[in-house]
Amino acid sequence: MTAVDALVVGAGVVGLTTAISLAEAGLATRVVTADPPSRTTSVAAGAIWGPVRCGPPDRCREWARAGLDVLSELAGEPAAAIRQVRGREVSQEPAAPPDWLDLLPGGVAMCAPTELPDGFAAGWWYTAPVVTMPSYLDYLLARYAAAGGSVEVAAVASLQSQDAPVVVNCAGMGARELVPDPLLEPVRGQVVVVRNPGIEEFYIDHGLRGSEYVYLFPHGDVVLLGGTAEEGAWDLAARPEVAERILRDCSAVHPRLRGAQIVAHRVGLRPCRPQVRLEAERLPGPGDRVLWHNYGHGGGGVTLAWGCAREITAAVLAGTAPAA
Ligand SMILES: Cc1cc2nc3c(=O)[nH]c(=O)nc-3n(C[C@H](O)[C@H](O)[C@H](O)COP(=O)(O)OP(=O)(O)OC[C@H]3O[C@@H](n4cnc5c(N)ncnc54)[C@H](O)[C@@H]3O)c2cc1C
Repeated sequence: MTAVDALVVGAGVVGLTTAISLAEAGLATRVVTADPPSRTTSVAAGAIWGPVRCGPPDRCREWARAGLDVLSELAGEPAAAIRQVRGREVSQEPAAPPDWLDLLPGGVAMCAPTELPDGFAAGWWYTAPVVTMPSYLDYLLARYAAAGGSVEVAAVASLQSQDAPVVVNCAGMGARELVPDPLLEPVRGQVVVVRNPGIEEFYIDHGLRGSEYVYLFPHGDVVLLGGTAEEGAWDLAARPEVAERILRDCSAVHPRLRGAQIVAHRVGLRPCRPQVRLEAERLPGPGDRVLWHNYGHGGGGVTLAWGCAREITAAVLAGTAPAA
């Protein structure tokens, strides 16, 4: 196998973005992944820009700011499958918009009472990038190949034994065993994709009832309907009763969704951790080998990926070595 400057483990949105960033900076890189991008958590995401279910807040804000810049720029490239979409987040309880929404150039506007569904107390409008993940992952793969990168599908059993001066661990939930890291917990998300009956605005119910979410994101000719947030659940098969509940709740928001043709069921495991792990350690053995960890992005990996990738790339180029 050809020698590389950096080896990236994982081909979800975090691994591919990191690999692109390193490759476009001039490093010879390779990705090794247990699953192709089409079978990752990343492909199941909604995916709207917003650093949710991730920490720490100050670092996530800066990574989200970087992500917003890149995703907004890519919204001009059809192959990237990113749209600027306007929509509402609404809450049955009195609530205020999260602080990070002030990063959006268009800001936030509170809903007028007439713009709230019956029984809802608050809501706010904003416009943010919405990413069609299956197409976006294809775009990332093509961009990585154009930068000279290659992807090998194989499971890695040990991060320490990889043969590269820089190894980047972007294994998502896989890091729980690989590191190992018991702080990493899955938060299962199930969604349904249907033909779009003409919906152009996103809708997010701010509240979580038990493990049930209600949200929907238009993606041109399809709409992604959600969802769930099931802590500690690992099963990857879509549950029919959950899909029915999602269809029922989303149809109550938009009656036009009743009877819409189902295109796909998707399930992903959000890699949740009290804090994203973005840090380096020295690898044992000869030479100055470094292992970077880049996992635990929770419900915000699409949002944070570019910011994290740029931070690692800058440190690798600067030769910033972690403490021995
Ligand atoms: C339903 C749902 C909705 C979401 N909505 C949003 C949203 O609106 N906005 C947002 O920003 N985020 C959203 N997220 C969160 C986002 O999808 C995740 O944070 C992100 O996908 C994590 O990406 P990742 O690359 O770290 O992990 P993954 O996509 O899981 O990729 C991990 C990769 O590591 C590989 N791997 C694991 N173990 C090994 C091993 N031992 N050897 C080799 N390879 C290995 C896997 O094969 C895979 O390629 C959502 C998630 C879900 C489930």
